[in-house]
Amino acid sequence: MSSAIDIAASVQSGERSAIEVLEEHLGAIAERESEVHAFNLVTTDQAIAAATAVDELVAKGGPLGPLAGVPVAIKDNLCTRGVATTCSSKILEGWVPPYDATVVTRLAAAGAIMVGKTNMDEFAMGSSTENSAFGPTRNPHDLSRVPGGSSGGSAAAVAAGFAPISLGSDTGGSIRQPAALCGVVGVKPTYGTVSRLGLVAFGSSLDQVGPFANTVAEAALVCEVIGGHDPGDSTSLPQAFPAVSEHLSDGVQGMRIGLITEMMGEGIAPDVAKRIRAAAEWLAAAGAEVEEVSVPAVTYGLSAYYLVAPAEASSNLSRYDGVRYGLRVDAPTTGEMMELTRTAGFGDEVKRRIMLGTYALSAGYYDAFYGTALKVRTLIRRDFDAAYERFDALLSPTSPTTAFSFGDKTADPMSMYLNDVCTIATNLAGHPAMSVPYGLGDDGMPVGAQVLAPALGEVAMFRVAAALEGSLV
Ligand code: GLN
Repeated sequence: MSSAIDIAASVQSGERSAIEVLEEHLGAIAERESEVHAFNLVTTDQAIAAATAVDELVAKGGPLGPLAGVPVAIKDNLCTRGVATTCSSKILEGWVPPYDATVVTRLAAAGAIMVGKTNMDEFAMGSSTENSAFGPTRNPHDLSRVPGGSSGGSAAAVAAGFAPISLGSDTGGSIRQPAALCGVVGVKPTYGTVSRLGLVAFGSSLDQVGPFANTVAEAALVCEVIGGHDPGDSTSLPQAFPAVSEHLSDGVQGMRIGLITEMMGEGIAPDVAKRIRAAAEWLAAAGAEVEEVSVPAVTYGLSAYYLVAPAEASSNLSRYDGVRYGLRVDAPTTGEMMELTRTAGFGDEVKRRIMLGTYALSAGYYDAFYGTALKVRTLIRRDFDAAYERFDALLSPTSPTTAFSFGDKTADPMSMYLNDVCTIATNLAGHPAMSVPYGLGDDGMPVGAQVLAPALGEVAMFRVAAALEGSLV
């Protein structure tokens, strides 16, 4: 399968039609989707119409966007006009958004062809896609293992060759962790650089949309297409996305890169830690100054996140009450109708988060829980800021282990939450981070290296990621 960049070039030059490219990918989907289950919905008819429109533009001589004819898979928590958007939850059954998320509009304007909506953990709560109401997605590298989550369908779609690029959302690691487990690139951009308009909210102060791709260059291009100011999102920054594509071959000579001590010790599988040490050594050999750095407050990231994210989720999810969206279970009174609807519509993990969040925000506990978590959040940001006074970028594993087997962590929510130890602090700080495949663990499954940078430090982050990727070829 060719890259998004090659596809766009060949469609623009008329060498290949968008329809041919689409058929090739629909063929890959027909072959393996029944075992992978990356999609909640494959949008064949809309994709054919969009590809035909691109081919008509080619015939007329343009204008063509940078993703002309490139198939893209969209996480099912991004609104798509006229196409069901379920968040892999029964509670949104039958709901069809009347508008497109800004990122979806921007991809279409760039010529990309949406091939389907991808499976996920319900409302993006989870790390394995096992919390989907529609059954799990399987890891294309080994069908007995999870693809990670919550954007497991989007990661699997790229890893299986169903689409060269896809979009996910990352609240605590949901792009980076599945990217690592599926052996693809995944980017969580700086908070505010990519519009959240039309992204179904989980934790509004943490959520960001970002791409999956097979290469760093493709991910960079997608960020530039979907990023930049959107007046429809009040947290959107006023500038364009940092110009990352033009710096991919700058190398790391003279860059200062810190290996995060707290993310290399206890809890990190030895084979994963070994690969990340190899990455650090390679960066040093390529001319970077690499040192270990302690970012002490990140060890409290998980505790703070599991107060802040559920608190925001409990508020965001209050709108699903049977009145306006999706499912309604009728009952004699409004109160009973709401209770029955929410009982039937939400899965166990979503209910757990709503209870955690409601508790953390309740009178008498607010200061002790939510208030304290916000203070910890500030400490995390400060510790990162201190590290970034000395370093241009930081390095760590993306996930403490390679892909685990189905059912391994479902009985114990805490063991599932621990999967996010390396990714969560980034969201609390609002910073960018990305995962790049860096070889295999002892079990032959992909290992992801995480590159972290300060807010709007995407150029440094992509330079390091591109260098790491280059070291493997
Ligand atoms: N796994 C984390 C959670 O369950 C992060 C999810 C995400 O980033 N959406 O909340």
